[in-house]
Amino acid sequence: MNAMKLGWFSELNSELWPGVALSLEVEEVLHSERSSFQDILVVKTLTHGKALMLDGVIQCTEKDEMSYHEMISYLPLCSHPKPQNVLIVGGGDGGVAREVAKHPDVERVTLVDIDDRVIEVCKQYLPRLSLGLNNPYVNIIVGDGFEFLNHHQGEFDVIITDSSDPIGPAENLFKHAYYQLLKSALKPGGIIASQAGTAWANLDQVCSTFQHCKAVFPVATYAVTSVPTYPTGQIGFVLGSLTEQTNFAEPMKIFSGKDLDRMSLMYYNDKVHRAAFALPRFVEKALNNA
Ligand code: SAM
Repeated sequence: MNAMKLGWFSELNSELWPGVALSLEVEEVLHSERSSFQDILVVKTLTHGKALMLDGVIQCTEKDEMSYHEMISYLPLCSHPKPQNVLIVGGGDGGVAREVAKHPDVERVTLVDIDDRVIEVCKQYLPRLSLGLNNPYVNIIVGDGFEFLNHHQGEFDVIITDSSDPIGPAENLFKHAYYQLLKSALKPGGIIASQAGTAWANLDQVCSTFQHCKAVFPVATYAVTSVPTYPTGQIGFVLGSLTEQTNFAEPMKIFSGKDLDRMSLMYYNDKVHRAAFALPRFVEKALNNA
């Protein structure tokens, strides 16, 4: 089926969310190409600013990207006592790098994305996000995150996996072996956070990703945030810690109102942090049985 009809982009993906599709009215197609890994599309929408799609799936829109990027960054960073060295796997649009680099304890950021074309296209069309890629503290490596982790051990305080969905180049980032690699790439006391799908449309995927995390980390949990342009308007993250005492639901670092303003945060604060771990009963039950 054609995702662009009558000036609307529709997110038609019968495998990941059968029978449902979000649509955005498009004013202009800014860029469209097939890279070595995926279809890349950037459009100017009527209501949500510019938007990036990979393989027909919305990755971010300028209007609501902050909810996803702030939460996947600060939930793990504020749960670690001193997150100095941070790895981002995926994240080629730059949104997570932008947020991670704002955290006062962070000294080094490495970003590994498989597709240099996503990085270049976002630098050209999505400067509000890709400013994170131009930060001199962010070292960008083009390569497969799974392969990269195979060669790095005991290096990182926090690893954030900001990947696309499990169909396509990110498939290996949703497997048990990936969680074992994450664990060995961490320093003692390290923490991970990974994009883990939405319970409304993909409860099985959420549970299997959580299971991989739980099998490897002494502390594992799932948190949610709302992103209106993601399927079902909600997305979740699995978080894992090597420290048994970690209580993800209670942030170790609390930003003051002044900090939040200085960092230009629009979504995250300590109250939203705590609330992200309050899960509906059907999700809690499914995770308890995972
Ligand atoms: N927030 C987004 C979402 O969930 O819709 C993810 C955005 S980010 C653009 C996803 C990035 O993951 C893409 O740039 C893609 O190239 C990258 N990616 C996919 N598979 C990868 C892999 N195996 N290793 C590293 N990066 C990968």
